This record gives sequence, structure tokens and C-alpha cells, in this order.
Amino acid sequence: MKALIAGGGIGGLTAALCFEKAGWEVALLERAPELSAVGAGIQVSPNAMKVFRAIDVDQAVIDCGFIPEAIEIRMGLSGQTLIRTPLGQTAKARWHAPYVHVHRADLASVLAQAVRARCPGAIALGAPVASYEEDGAGVAAVLADGSKVKGDLLVGADGIHSAVRAQLLGPDKPVFTGNVAWRSVVPVERLGGHVPDPVAAAWMGEGKHAVTYLLRGGTLANLVAVVERDDWVSESWTEQGTREDALRDFAGWHPSITTILEQSDALFQWALFDRPPLRTWVSQRVALLGDAAHPMLPFMAQGAAMAIEDAFALSELAARGKDDLAAALHAYQALRRPRASAVQAGSRANAKTFHQRTSLGKLTTYGPMWLAGRLAPGVGLKRQDGIYAYDVVKAARAA
Ligand code: FAD
Repeated sequence: MKALIAGGGIGGLTAALCFEKAGWEVALLERAPELSAVGAGIQVSPNAMKVFRAIDVDQAVIDCGFIPEAIEIRMGLSGQTLIRTPLGQTAKARWHAPYVHVHRADLASVLAQAVRARCPGAIALGAPVASYEEDGAGVAAVLADGSKVKGDLLVGADGIHSAVRAQLLGPDKPVFTGNVAWRSVVPVERLGGHVPDPVAAAWMGEGKHAVTYLLRGGTLANLVAVVERDDWVSESWTEQGTREDALRDFAGWHPSITTILEQSDALFQWALFDRPPLRTWVSQRVALLGDAAHPMLPFMAQGAAMAIEDAFALSELAARGKDDLAAALHAYQALRRPRASAVQAGSRANAKTFHQRTSLGKLTTYGPMWLAGRLAPGVGLKRQDGIYAYDVVKAARAA
């Protein structure tokens, strides 16, 4: 059996390794001339690390990453911590896998190296999938130059502007969520006394929030700083912004944030888009995964984690159900759609929590959080159980 995978992002590369592990031949078709990842960090939560363990790349991810001690919710101006959820050994013991921060380029490189070692020649670069043809006998990915690559299953892991999704469901556009993210990675030696603590810190503010954490063994500081804006007119997702604009957005904020902005060589702005849950992710021989199926706001740090979970579930169910692929793909959708849709909705809801604008909103949101942090510190762990304790490896094998 042969899986064609459109897209070599985190979802597509993980899918290649999952299908290889399941005994399939793999062809990964990536539009870009090289596999590259933006200079930014990514949080890989225990639910995603369980997949990486199943495909034997978990240790390589840990080795190039950073294990945070906790998640902290803080006030952006004062720096006051509202609630602290321990990670480190606690995450491993409670959710059966570590929580890791990784540079995206390092993660992409670990995954791509594993694909190249295990499936030599499987990655085709400069290979944009324009459309597909499917029938009872198989599926062909049609590239932009008209050439065809044939297989048994086509995986649409081609991101938020997915060509595979457009053919499956017709054209539409993702929705601008009104949020724009500043992103930066800075060597910690530039930050003097303002190196971020070894935690994933989410800093709350009026109509904005920021997230800071460490990467690469603690040598790099990562910042994602999200502001609400209704004036985004550019078609482009990413634009270089100025340090002055970024500092204006976060004027008066804690120096842990402003120092990173001051010390950044380049500051990029990412417009954040999502899309309501799709009515279907699959056809007879085509399945979507990751952002192609369920783009979401990054307010739960789960977009890539959901793509990674999808990849395992799809490979497991397709391998087991290869004699009736259409049924297997519907089983994949039935397993994954409710979970990914819930995380999409949760990410939207977090936007309200993180960006409270009114005094009443702040009091009724951050007050109970602060109180819970003091009276019932385990509450943060319980809140994360539904996401981090989930084991897609077990769930897909049991489905
Ligand atoms: P993509 O990464 O978009 O990859 C799609 C690939 O397909 C690309 O390589 C593209 O070149 C290729 N492609 C596109 N069209 C074609 C075509 N027609 N043919 C062939 N190839 C094609 N998630 C987390 O889990 N944790 C986090 O901490 C986190 N932080 C985030 C912070 C921000 C600011 C943002 C914006 C997102 C964050 N996310 C996070 C979400 C995460 O980045 C995405 O959900 C994830 O990268 C999606 O992976 P993907 O493989 O589905 O799609």
C-alpha cells in the first residue's frame, strides 16, 4: 500500500513516519523547494509526544528542546502570577509523556531526517499538488506541471490554504480572527537580567497577550505576542513589522516581554486565521489532516499537536482497514473530528479569557484564577487533563 502525502509541514512529516511504521510505502510531495520552518518555537505537549514515542523520534525531540518546569498565567503589566501548573516530572508522571519546547526548525529537521533515513527518496521538493483523481482502484496526485503520482491513499496535509481541501469541499477562505501575532526568537545572552523563567508563561492583557518560553537547552528565548487588530488588509500571512510598532503594542508591559522585543533582529507579524469545523474531512481515498482540516487559533498551543495526533490515527486506521479504505477513513474522521473541533472551540474561547478588556471581566476571570492558584493549586493540572492525558495511540488502536 502507498500513501501520498501532500505537504511537508509538521503534520505531513509525522504522517510519513506513521505510515512507514505501519508498513506502507510513502511519497511526500512538498510545494516548497526546501523543507524549512519559520524561526519560532513550538510547544509540544504530552499528547503529541506520545505519538513521537510511537514513531521513535521522542528522544531526538527532547534532545534538541527544552523541558519547562511549569505553565504560568501572569498579568502582562505587573508580572503577577495568577496560577502555576507544574510540568517537568509532574507532566511525565501525570500525562505519561514530557512537555517539550522546540525550535520549529529543529523539529522539522528531526522529522525530515527520520523520513529520509527510513524512506529514502520519499520526499519530493518543488512538487505542488494541484489536484487529485480518485477511483475504486487508486488515487493520483496531479502536480502543477501535470505529472501524476499514483498511490492508494492521498493525505491532504497541505495547511490552511489546502488545495486538497479545496477540491474535496469546494473553494472557501479561512476567516481572519482579528488577531495578529508578533513572533521572535532571541539568544538569551542578549537579555541581561530579563531572561524568561524556565516556564511557559502566558501574560494576559487588554485585547492582547504574550507567551514566553525557552528553546534549545535554554539558549534561546521565544516570544509570541498577540494583539487584536481589525485593520489587517494584507493578503500575506506574514509581514515584517517594526520594533517601534511592537513596542507600542506592548508599552508598559513587563520587561521580560519588552526586552525580547528590543533585542529582536527581525520581528514578524502573523495574521491568525481559522475556519469553522468542516462537515467532512474524507472521501473514498482522500483524507485531510492538521491545519488543512482544522486550522485554529494558537491559544491552546494545540494546532500542531492535533496534526500529530491526526497523523497517527489516520495511519493506524488506514493500515488496519486497507481492504475497505473508505470505511477506514470514515472511522478516522469519527475519531478525530470531535476532538479537533473541541480544541478549535476551546482556542477561540481562550481568546476571551486572555484578552479581558473590562474591569468586571478581569475581576470575574482573573480573580477566581488567582484564588484557585492559592487554595487549590491542582486545579491547573485538572484543567489540562482532557488535552494532555489523551493517548491517540491507544484510542486509534481501540477504535
Ligand atoms: P503547515 O505547517 O501549514 O504545513 C503545510 C505544508 O504543506 C507546508 O510545508 C506547505 O509548504 C505545504 N503545501 C501547501 N500547499 C501545498 C500543495 N498544494 N502541495 C504540496 N505542498 C503544499 N501548535 C502547537 O501544537 N503548539 C504551539 O505552541 C503552537 N504555537 C503556534 C503559534 C502561532 C503564532 C501559530 C500561528 C500557530 C501555532 N501552532 C502551535 C499551530 C501550528 O503551527 C500549526 O497548527 C501546524 O504547524 C500545522 O501543521 P500542518 O502540517 O497541518 O500545516
